[in-house]
Order: sequence, then C-alpha cells, then structure tokens
Amino acid sequence: MADFKECSLQAMLKGMRDGDFSSRELTSFFLDRIDALEGRIHAFLSLKPESALQQADRADALYVEWRAKKRASIPSLLGLPIAVKDVLCVDGFPCTCGSRILENFHPPFNATSVQRLLDEGVIIVGKTNMDEFAMGSSTENSAFGPTHNPWNVEHVPGGSSGGSAAAVAARMIPAALATDTGGSVRQPASFCGVTGIKPTYGRVSRYGLIAYGSSLDTAGVMAHSAQDVEMLLRVMAGFDPRDATTSDLPVFSPLEDQNDLHGLRIGLPMEYFIEGIQPEVDVAVKEAVRQLEQHGAQVLQVSLPHTRYALPVYYLIAPAEASANLARFDGVRYGLRVEEEDLIPMYLRTRGRGFGAEVKRRIMLGTYALSAGYYDAYYGQAQKVRTLIKQDFEKAFEFVDVIAAPIAPTTAFKLGQHTDDPLAMYLEDVFTLPANLAGVPGLAFPVGFDGNGLPIGMQLMGPQFSEQNLFRAASVYQSFTDFHQRVPLDVQ
Ligand code: GLN
Repeated sequence: MADFKECSLQAMLKGMRDGDFSSRELTSFFLDRIDALEGRIHAFLSLKPESALQQADRADALYVEWRAKKRASIPSLLGLPIAVKDVLCVDGFPCTCGSRILENFHPPFNATSVQRLLDEGVIIVGKTNMDEFAMGSSTENSAFGPTHNPWNVEHVPGGSSGGSAAAVAARMIPAALATDTGGSVRQPASFCGVTGIKPTYGRVSRYGLIAYGSSLDTAGVMAHSAQDVEMLLRVMAGFDPRDATTSDLPVFSPLEDQNDLHGLRIGLPMEYFIEGIQPEVDVAVKEAVRQLEQHGAQVLQVSLPHTRYALPVYYLIAPAEASANLARFDGVRYGLRVEEEDLIPMYLRTRGRGFGAEVKRRIMLGTYALSAGYYDAYYGQAQKVRTLIKQDFEKAFEFVDVIAAPIAPTTAFKLGQHTDDPLAMYLEDVFTLPANLAGVPGLAFPVGFDGNGLPIGMQLMGPQFSEQNLFRAASVYQSFTDFHQRVPLDVQ
C-alpha cells in the first residue's frame, strides 16, 4: 500500500482526482496507523472507522463519475480524512470536551467550522483528546487519561489540543481541527512539531465550539505545512450569521508560490527573549529568523512592554468567562446527572462528580473575580490591562508586518512534571496568551529539535486578519527546511 506519511494534503487531493489512489486507500492507511499507535499515544476520544470507510467509498464513486464527465464539479476536499478536537460539535459523534459531565452528550448539529469542511467533502474519522474544557497545557487534565507525545511517550504533547497535535505528528491523521483560547493550538503544535494556526478572533465562527473563554476562543487547524493549514482554514473561515462576532471581511485568497520575502518586516519582541527560557529554544528561533532575513525579510527589534501582565490578566479574564459559560452544566438539560430528590443536592453532586480539579479551580477563581466588591479590583482592572496589551501590538505593527517569537519557554516536559503545581503549568503559557488577549493571529511551525530530540516551535503573529502574510513567511521557511517533514522515530 502507498505510504502517505509524507504526502501533503494538496498531493492527496490531486492523487484522488487523478485516480492514482482512492479515498478508501488513503483513509485505510490512516486508520491502520491509528490501530497500530493509539494504544501508545491515546490521541482519540472517539473513532468511527466503519463510517469513515463508507464515506470514502461514496467519495470514490463521485470521483469516478467526475472523471467520466458525468459530474461538472466535485467538492474541493472530497475524500480527505481529518480529525476534530472534542470541543467542536460533530453530528454523529459524542462531544465530551474531555469531561465526565459531557460524557454522554451527542450534539444533534455540526459546528460551523466543521460543517464548512464537510460541505467540501472531508471525512471525519474521530474526535481528539484534550484538557477538560480546554483548560490546561499538557492534556493531563482530560478526564479520560492523558495523550502521549509521539516524539517521546514519556513527555506531554502540550495542551489543551494535545490529541490533535499528537495525532497529526504521529501521522495517525493528516490534519486536525483544534482551538486556541490562550495557546492551545500553538503550544501543542510546538511540542509535537506540527504546523498550526490560531486565527484572528472572529475569522472563524465559534458556533458549535463549546465555550471556555468566549472573548478569547478561536477555532484553528493543524497539519504539516503552512500550505496545508492555509487550505483548510480558508474553507473554515468567514462570516457566519450564527456567530455575531465573526467578521464579514473577505477571506484571504490562496497562497501563491513564492520564495523570497522582500518587503516583509519582521519584529523581534525583546520581552520574549528573556532569562529562563531554554537556551535551545532561544537559539532555534533566532536562527529561523536569521534565515528568513537571508531570504529577503528585514528584521527589527520591537517592544511589547505589557507582556509580563498577560499571564495574570488571562488567568482572571479566562476563568471569569469560564465560570459564566460553565454554569449551564448543571445536570438538568444534558450531560451527566446524579439523581437526588432535591434540586440543590442534585446540582452539587452532579457538578462535584462531573468536573475535574482544574475546572473547579477556575470556576472558583472566576466567580471570585466577578463577585461584588472584587469585580473592579480584579476583573475590571484586568480588562484595562488587556487594552494596554492590545495597544502594544498595534504600536509594534506600525513598524513591522509580523512578530516572530518562541511559543513556549521549554520543549515538551515530562508527564506529571507540573501536575501538582498549577502555577508552573500556567507559566508555560506566557508567550501564547498575549495574541489571544489582543485578538491577533498566530501561526506555529517547527524550527528545530532540542538535545533530546523534542521539537522546537516558533510563532509568527501579525495584525488582525493578516493570516496570509503569516502563511507566506512560514511557507517560504518550509521551502528550504525539513523540520516539518520529519516523522517521530518511535512511530515510524
Ligand atoms: N493553557 C491555557 C489554559 O490553560 C490555554 C488553553 C487554551 O488555549 N484553551 O487556559
């Protein structure tokens, strides 16, 4: 059977269109890899192999008709297998959010981002593991057990979208949807050596994305190259009448082949290259920027002076929004319900059993920050500082087109290393949170490996709705490097 581990999405689609191979062959290849590796990686929370193969056969039949000229056109992603983070609703699959409280929730509809991909013919093979309600940086907060990093199974894959990142890295699936509220696309992409986009807030609809922090949540996608990621994001993006925060600005046009970056000004924010970051991360990111410079980009120093406040600001605003969003999980409408005679004990026991420790911690933190008497001191103050962080980016983008920075201060840490110390875990997010607070896009891609063979990622951030520029720079970088094509040894 053909080996699709190193095949781009473009090449998969072309191969199916030309009749070189079928969607059944392609889908079976990835299902076989899932079969072989899932026991070690645990990237998935649910899988539908039979239904995936049936859809593949239907796609193949359409390709045959199209080639025989019985059909004028075919959907652009027909027969392409993908996976979806278990926080986005997909009709026909459970949607657990990595939580016991939604263990039995089967949404009767598709998230808009998912629907748009289905309309173009993708096949959804499974739903991926995640930190409970997307709260975490290691996927260890999943109620269904952690995911393991394919580069070294004793290490975490990052989080909260660790299942999607690990599945893509291990070539159990060629692409996967993920979400980013404070880094959950970029940090696991970095830890697992894959490419992933956190789009501008409002670029992709949040309809059907189970809310964590509504003013920060974004739906994005992971794959192996900027080109692959761009192709899927372009389908997912755009105005949606079901999400009033989506923008009606036109979606960016397809990436054009290009190999130089003349005219692109890259900013290096001094606040992101600080004491305490793993030296190999610092060196790899700077080396990648130097190579972009050699390809025509101009590199400038910039300052984002309020960066150090991003962590406390995020850990007030996100839990505050979460405490409001999670109030609906009370055992009455759907999900888990522990039967009791009276309402209050039923609420208490349902939520007591249904939520894990991190989710409870954040609900308490958020409820406290919003309570009368503390609101101004905590939530109100955090909102003001959020504006300063946003203004930092606006000022920097007067001088540069993109900002290059590390994604996390370290490479993937060991399972269990931070589980007893929530603050140490929160510190992992220091470089990813600002983009969410400012609503700007961030593209993560691999730029090297540390001494232990664990991937190192870099992010490019840009002004709102400048995704195309980020894809362009990363795809030039990927035209002369091969970090994004390497397959973890353990899972070859
Ligand atoms: N790691 C961050 C947190 O724990 C971000 C999570 C996310 O982006 N969903 O909240």
